[in-house]
Amino acid sequence: MSPMKKLLSIIIPVKNESDSLEILFQRLTKIIDNSPNVDYEYIIINDGSTDDTLDKLLEYQKANSHIQMTIIDLSRNFGKEAALYAGFEYANGDCAVSIDADLQDPPELIPEMLECWFQGYEVVTAVHEYRETDTFLKRKTAGLFYKSINKISEVKLTPNAGDFRLLDRAAINAFLTLGEKVRFNKGLFSWIGFKEKLIYHKREVRQAGVSKWNYFKLFKFAIDGITSFSKSPLEIWFYLGMGIAISGFLYGVFIILYKILSGIDVPGYASLLVFVLFFSGLQMIGIGILGKYIGRIFIESKRRPIFIARKIYINEGAADK
Ligand code: UDP
Ligand code: MG
Repeated sequence: MSPMKKLLSIIIPVKNESDSLEILFQRLTKIIDNSPNVDYEYIIINDGSTDDTLDKLLEYQKANSHIQMTIIDLSRNFGKEAALYAGFEYANGDCAVSIDADLQDPPELIPEMLECWFQGYEVVTAVHEYRETDTFLKRKTAGLFYKSINKISEVKLTPNAGDFRLLDRAAINAFLTLGEKVRFNKGLFSWIGFKEKLIYHKREVRQAGVSKWNYFKLFKFAIDGITSFSKSPLEIWFYLGMGIAISGFLYGVFIILYKILSGIDVPGYASLLVFVLFFSGLQMIGIGILGKYIGRIFIESKRRPIFIARKIYINEGAADK
């Protein structure tokens, strides 16, 4: 490695990506070999793959002894957020890019990201535009998610920014100081601050394999995101409860006056049922939200590590480029 060159860490979390790996390395290597200003290393996190992903990684590492490459084999599936944390922890670079293995994040953006970094930006975030193939429901729910979280939380999320970013060493170190166990990267990246540049691209379709997300998981992820970065869901119940109690009181006053003035009993079985159902529903949501936060306190209070590595395979990258 020449002393003049900066080192770029390319961090890739993988879970069952056996079919994507070959083309991924092909495309990445081609691009970065053409970036004369940097040396690079791969940091690959095997996040509990059940297929032959690890074997293929080790094979590739062995066959390419000139490439600096660290493979972190996690002891089980810890989820992408934890896997990325592991990657940043082992990265040696002056800057690092985190990228998905399925090539939905085009590696061709990396030179542009580096360009921005050389200009002095500390975080370069790739923002994807919607694809025509995204369903109406997906666009709408994503839009709604960003709107609501940005309304109620202190940190603002950039809509459609994924985990495909470049971080300067200072930003990496800052990111690593955030040791929470329930991790919501979009929020964490935004929370650390730094001078950020957005670059836009079209998100591609998956190369091979299947996405590990479904609507239920996405919904849970969204709720985790909101409850990680905002206290409003906890606090809103106070105001809602006050409002409901006052309206209940006023309605009671109204019924009594009505009875006195008109002499007619107010028939109300149906409305009674509606009120009971509606408000017991609200109460359960309120309790559920309390549960979410208490669950969070429970998990964080155990102070367990974010990930556990079974083994780290390091290839120092023998040859100077
Ligand atoms: N991934 C991971 N652990 C998981 C799920 C996913 O490391 O538990 C990796 C996966 O191999 C891929 C990236 O995270 O490199 C993005 O995953 P996916 O394509 O399933 O997410 P999507 O693109 O649908 O958001
Ligand atoms: Mg994907």
